[in-house]
Amino acid sequence: MSLKEYKKKRDFKVTPEPAGDEAAGHGDLSYVVQKHQASHLHYDFRLEWNGVLLSWAVPKGPSLDPSVKRLAMQVEDHPVEYGGFEGTIPEGEYGGGTVMVWDRGTWTPEVTDVDAALRKGDLKFTLHGAKLKGSWVLVRTRGSFGGGKRASWLLIKHRDRFASAEDVTVEKPRSAATRRLLADIARAGGGNIAKAAAGDPPLNAPVSKPRKAAPAVVARKRIRRK
Ligand code: MN
Repeated sequence: MSLKEYKKKRDFKVTPEPAGDEAAGHGDLSYVVQKHQASHLHYDFRLEWNGVLLSWAVPKGPSLDPSVKRLAMQVEDHPVEYGGFEGTIPEGEYGGGTVMVWDRGTWTPEVTDVDAALRKGDLKFTLHGAKLKGSWVLVRTRGSFGGGKRASWLLIKHRDRFASAEDVTVEKPRSAATRRLLADIARAGGGNIAKAAAGDPPLNAPVSKPRKAAPAVVARKRIRRK
């Protein structure tokens, strides 16, 4: 586990993201999902292990439905303190856009040897988050991306009392840390509010322009009767 790639990609004089260092473990393993409106909206799923956050980019976000498998592309390890980051990454920087702490908490491995499970590509674990709870699995597939350098995994909910047909990304769009929507975070951080709002559910998205007034007289559709 190394933060070399994480540090190489970022200019810490420009981005407010933490430079971070490998942290000594103390007790509970942290878990976080950061909703990230960058060039594409995605959810960064992170599990603390060996002093860093193992990280996967999940384009569609997690699903509580055990029949749904969500693509999770493994990306570079992040510092543990990155899990507390919510804010705006300047446009033009790596990952430029808005980051929200969408869910957070701790995780427990369901296997005795996590490193072996990661090597094997089959990690079962329990999440203790505000939104995501219960048993999950990350399974590595044969596919890869980024020129074959990076592994594709699937994030899947196991059947338990926390499984649900509810679309948690739509039903629970707010920050687990601050209750803000992406647009609120962008506004506070001097980011692109319209771009951020595009990642919020339509009903919650702020209206940037005044609504068009409804026509005063609505022509009634004539109903033909035979
Ligand atoms: Mn990201």
